[in-house]
Formats: sequence, structure tokens, C-alpha cells
Amino acid sequence: MKKMRIFWILVYFLMPILPMALILQTSSFYFQNAFMMLSMVLGVTAYVWLVSQFILSARPKFIERYFGMDRLYRFHNTMAVVSFFLALAHNQIKERVFGLEKQVGEAALILFGLIIVFSLVFLGDSFLRKWRPIQVLRRFSAEKLRLKFKIVRFFHNFTLVAAGLLAIHVNQSLAASVSMPVRIFYIGYFVLAISFYVYHKFIKPALLRQNAFEVIGNVVEAPDVQTLKLGASKGKVFTYKPGQFVFITILDKEIGIEEHPFSLSSAPGNRDFITMTIKGLGDFTSKMKNVKMGTHVLVDGPYGYFSMLNHDPENDLVFIAGGIGITPILSMLLYLKENQPDRKALLLWGAQKPVDLVRMDEVEALQKEMPNLEIVPFVERGDDWKGQKGFITREYLAGKLFSSEVLDRQRDYYVCGPPVMMEIMIGHLKSLGVEGKHIHFERFAL
Ligand SMILES: Cc1cc2nc3c(=O)[nH]c(=O)nc-3n(C[C@H](O)[C@H](O)[C@H](O)COP(=O)(O)OP(=O)(O)OC[C@H]3O[C@@H](n4cnc5c(N)ncnc54)[C@H](O)[C@@H]3O)c2cc1C
Repeated sequence: MKKMRIFWILVYFLMPILPMALILQTSSFYFQNAFMMLSMVLGVTAYVWLVSQFILSARPKFIERYFGMDRLYRFHNTMAVVSFFLALAHNQIKERVFGLEKQVGEAALILFGLIIVFSLVFLGDSFLRKWRPIQVLRRFSAEKLRLKFKIVRFFHNFTLVAAGLLAIHVNQSLAASVSMPVRIFYIGYFVLAISFYVYHKFIKPALLRQNAFEVIGNVVEAPDVQTLKLGASKGKVFTYKPGQFVFITILDKEIGIEEHPFSLSSAPGNRDFITMTIKGLGDFTSKMKNVKMGTHVLVDGPYGYFSMLNHDPENDLVFIAGGIGITPILSMLLYLKENQPDRKALLLWGAQKPVDLVRMDEVEALQKEMPNLEIVPFVERGDDWKGQKGFITREYLAGKLFSSEVLDRQRDYYVCGPPVMMEIMIGHLKSLGVEGKHIHFERFAL
């Protein structure tokens, strides 16, 4: 696993060396001027890394399985910004030192710049999300301007136009005009990356349509939570690891034909159906109760690295869930019941109200067959609640995990819940001395 990660990271970062070597083989004039050399290195690196974004955002499973989707998307966000600044530096050297202005390159740069800023502000889990002004702007645009995720994503697709302009620009360069291998690389790499995009956007959905799943159950778990049960229309469902997620598209115009990610909340051993337990938080998720039996659903997956099967099989397990963040953990518990019922595990599950502890009967029933599973639910509001009240605090974690015999070996911690709760829990664990490599988490945002 670790070796493959290093392999892909090296492939990504070293890839620009190939076109640079091709350029230097035929264009020796770069050796005569340091600015020319620097500008070429910056430009080529920016081109290769920007074009690579189309490969990364097509969710290639052969890469994703070693990193997880959230890491891959965060890398995509970061590298798009880094590449943009490399391209900007290349452009400035060309303009200021050599007085060269290339209109096509400049147009590509401006378009990339606009898309990057817009995406970082409005799309998914960018590093800007923690800044208060960005949070306010996002809330304002969602509530007052009704700026929908799919509109933001539609605008994001204009990167295709920017990449096209970029490909024209690099092929107009001096290096490309004197060297056929350089031109072949530039065009070939562009075609390869765009093929990933075309496969992801058009071919894969068509293939998924041929193997569409069917809704065979839609259970009300709480007033705003539904469990969708999907059966494969042909044969058995795919194999997946507990904790993984899928993207679903419900083929019903009244629900909205758009793709959304959800963790699988079913037992991976059951190949007859999969389930997703969904909380109504927005336009799409609040329509889940209207999903009719027999509706066809496209299921793309499984994805994700958040699974105890990716870590030491002997370690004790501590699961920390917040509200609907129980879903991937439920799948892990169901897996344990079938495969390692004696494994030592502790589930700390915080929710606002008792009703938010969805599928609690099922979770509690697991204890009958799992003698070493302890479950501690926390509820913030609930007058009749007899259990733990309030939040899972640092003091509680310290007392429960570090001054008792509850768990006695090496442990792995799995955290999933609302972003704020996750950040607090991960902070508590780290402050109590837990090493980052033993803390695994899934953000419900990409
Ligand atoms: C890996 C992962 C696993 C998840 N598992 C579960 C689960 O088991 N149960 C559950 O209830 N929720 C889960 N979610 C969250 C769920 O995907 C969002 O709540 C849902 O997509 C919101 O859509 P909406 O239109 O109802 O809400 P909106 O109010 O439109 O969106 C709320 C936020 O959700 C995100 N979002 C919206 N649309 C999309 C989309 N098409 N693709 C990606 N993100 C989007 C955006 O960050 C947006 O700001 C998961 C999310 C991820 C990333």
C-alpha cells in the first residue's frame, strides 16, 4: 500500500522531466540563458500538472484505492493552485524578460485563474472552507442566491476550455515547433488526460446504466433519515470494504438526476443488496422519502480508504461517530460481527437527540454476538435520556481510553461526523498522545 502510494507520487512529480528531456535534446539554446531555462521548466511543469488534473478528477480507481477520494481531491485542489502559480511565473518571465505576449496562453491562464478562485470559494472541501468570510459567503450564496452545487460544478467544467487553450499554446512554443517528439508528448498527454475525462463523464455513466441498481426498500429511520436498499438488477452486487462509499444517481427527474456520494451502511458480506442511510440536509437528500420502489439507480463505486481492512487486523478499535457519521462505522461493525466477532471495539456515538441515533436497535443487537463490543451513546438534548449527556469531551476520552482497562493493545481510531465535531475529536486524540497514523477519518464533503 505504502509502496504504491510512493510510486504514484513519484510518477506525478517526475512526469514533467520527460518532456523537459525531449526539449533539451533538440533545443540547446535553453542552456545559454538561465531565464529561458527557468521559464521552460516552469511552463512545462505547469502544463503537465494542470493536464494531469483531468486524470485525477476522473476518480481513477487504480490510484484512488491507495489514497482515498478525499485525499485525491484535496491533492487535486492544491496542485491546481500550485500549477497555476507556476504558469503565472512562466508567463511573467516571458513577458517581462523577453517581452513576449502569447494571447492564447494568457487567455488560458485567466480562465484557469477564475475557475480556481470560484471553485476554492464555492466547491467542496477546499482549504478555504475554514475561513469565516468564506463560510459566510458560501452560506449567503446557497441561501440567498440559491447557488447550487451542480451550477458550481458546471462552471468548474470550463477547465476543459482552459486546458484546450493551454494545449494550443504549448504547441505554438518554439520547443514544440522544432521537435516532433515534444509535439507528440504535448498532444498525446492531452489526449490521454481528456480520454479519462470523457470516460468518466460519458462512457462510465452509459455503462452504469446497463447495470443499474433497483430500489428494493426505502425505510424511514427518523423523521429526516431514510435507508435506501438497492439490489443489483443483474447478478450480485460488487465487493466492497466496510467503510467505503459510492456515488449514486437516482433516475427520477422529480428527485433530480444528479450524482451524490454516500457511505455504504450495509454488511459487505451480503452480496444481494447494498444500503445507504441518508439524512435530509439539502435539496437532494430531503427528497429521499419520495424515492419509489423499483426506481433505477446508477451506483459508481466503491471508493474510499476509510476502512479497518486497510490497517492492522489485530489492533483494538475505537469508533467515534457524530450523528449520521455512523454509516461507514455501521458497515464496519456489521463486517466485524461476521468476521471477527471477538475483536475488541468501542463505539462512542454522539447525536443531538435520541432520535438521531438511527438504526440503534441494530447497533445494540450486535453486542449479543460481539462480546467485546462496548457502545456509549451521547445525546445533547433529551430530558428522558438516561445515558451520557452533552458532547464527547477530552476528559471523557482521557478517562475512558487512557486510565482504564477498556482497551489494552494498540488501537486504531475511526472518526466520522460533522466537520467541526471531527476536528475537535481529532484534536483531542492528538492532544492525548495518539499518533496521527492511528487516526483515520472520513469527511462527508469532497
Ligand atoms: C464520502 C462521503 C460519504 C457520505 N456519506 C453520507 C451518508 O452515509 N449519509 C448521509 O446522509 N450523507 C452522506 N454524505 C453527505 C452527502 O453526500 C451530502 O449531504 C449530500 O450530497 C448533500 O446534498 P444536498 O443537495 O441534499 O444538500 P446541499 O445543501 O445541496 O449540499 C450540502 C453540501 O453537500 C455537498 N454536496 C452537495 N451536492 C453534492 C454532490 N452532488 N456531490 C458531492 N458533494 C455534494 C456540498 O459540500 C454542499 O455544500 C457523504 C458525503 C461524502 C463525501
